[in-house]
Amino acid sequence: MKKYDFIIAGGGMAGLSLAYYLSLSPLRDRSILILDKETKDRNDRTWCFWEDKDGPFESILFRKWNTVGFFGTTFNGLLDIGDYQYKMLRGSDFYAFVKNHLAQFPSIEFRQVTINRVKDTPQGGFVIADDEPYIANYVFDSTYLLKLNRSENHNLLQHFKGWTIVAEKPCFDVSKPCMMDFRVEQHGDCRFLYVLPFDERTALVEYTVFNDALLPDEYYETALRSYIDRFLDTGTYTVQETEFGIIPMSDELTKERPGKHVVRIGTAGGYTKPSTGYTFQRTQRYLYEIVQNLVITGKPKRRKPWLRRVFKRFLDSVLLNVLQNHRHPADDIFTRLYQNNPPAQIFRFLDEDTTFAEDLKIMTTVPLGAFTIAALDVFRKRIFRV
Ligand SMILES: Cc1cc2nc3c(=O)[nH]c(=O)nc-3n(C[C@H](O)[C@H](O)[C@H](O)COP(=O)(O)OP(=O)(O)OC[C@H]3O[C@@H](n4cnc5c(N)ncnc54)[C@H](O)[C@@H]3O)c2cc1C
Repeated sequence: MKKYDFIIAGGGMAGLSLAYYLSLSPLRDRSILILDKETKDRNDRTWCFWEDKDGPFESILFRKWNTVGFFGTTFNGLLDIGDYQYKMLRGSDFYAFVKNHLAQFPSIEFRQVTINRVKDTPQGGFVIADDEPYIANYVFDSTYLLKLNRSENHNLLQHFKGWTIVAEKPCFDVSKPCMMDFRVEQHGDCRFLYVLPFDERTALVEYTVFNDALLPDEYYETALRSYIDRFLDTGTYTVQETEFGIIPMSDELTKERPGKHVVRIGTAGGYTKPSTGYTFQRTQRYLYEIVQNLVITGKPKRRKPWLRRVFKRFLDSVLLNVLQNHRHPADDIFTRLYQNNPPAQIFRFLDEDTTFAEDLKIMTTVPLGAFTIAALDVFRKRIFRV
């Protein structure tokens, strides 16, 4: 059996990003096998994220904006996001770009198979897919399904349905996307829409909910229809594309290294920011670090300043605790955050680039009573594990 240098189990966002970074590094000639059950040629998702400089996928961005709109409880308007740009990348463009780039490397192979098992063995990382065994020095696994069930943790879901609509009338300003619009019934959860305009008649309109249970499909559609009728002057419109997604918002610690030769990456590796669901940028950052370490030390490690990580994780848990226990209306929390802090600072905070002192300053702008009770509850849960 051929032993590969690296097997990438799951060639989605994280798997293909990793292969891309490896191909740009001195490890570009290593043997790499990418396994996925899908061909990845559909536009199965669209990623939005912010960045304050050009990123590795700049040339294939679908859109980018210098400002974003916000509609909250006591404040609405355009946010000054400083040097950041809000960026949008379509899944189909990303998959095509990376696969096209990787095709020039004869040492990188693709197989369309269903993975049944990923296992660490003394000889290497071992994968069984369609009953065939594969082995490598390292397996990077983005197919592992998270088990979110420990009672001391918070497990919410971010679920959303989006429509790309084409309006009869020109009604969108392409320079003004709306990142969060809370002018919808909250039903005791956190619910908002966002509107990302592509041209004056076309936009992605997405209804997003943070809570612990999915809604019947018709519910998302009714919410989308009612929002468009109330707030967008479209005239009639047609739905060109539909997107549905579920992202775990959990503070359950995931084993990123379940064995010596297996590394979990992407959502499977716990790369999703628990309190927001944003995963794309964190994955790029973490994978870049892993590849740098592979080049320098031969080991796929990430830099993990533990104290900082524990504190950031604690802040995520506190927000999840507030949301899960309905300690304060979520629309008001997000409004206070964006109203009382420079929005670019909130982006840095969510990227975990702020210092301890900056974090504390931001924390003074949220409802203190609800967050203090939540912080005590998080301590209690961690100590007594209930
Ligand atoms: C609709 C949608 C929109 C999103 N939008 C955003 C966003 O705007 N911003 C953001 O930061 N995050 C967003 N996310 C969250 C996150 O960025 C994506 O889910 C991202 O694709 C996660 O990357 P991944 O590589 O971990 O998983 P995936 O991209 O899902 O890749 C996993 C791959 O593994 C393959 N696979 C799984 N099981 C098997 C198996 N048994 N055998 C073989 N192959 C298998 C799958 O086919 C898939 O290609 C979104 C998620 C969804 C679902």
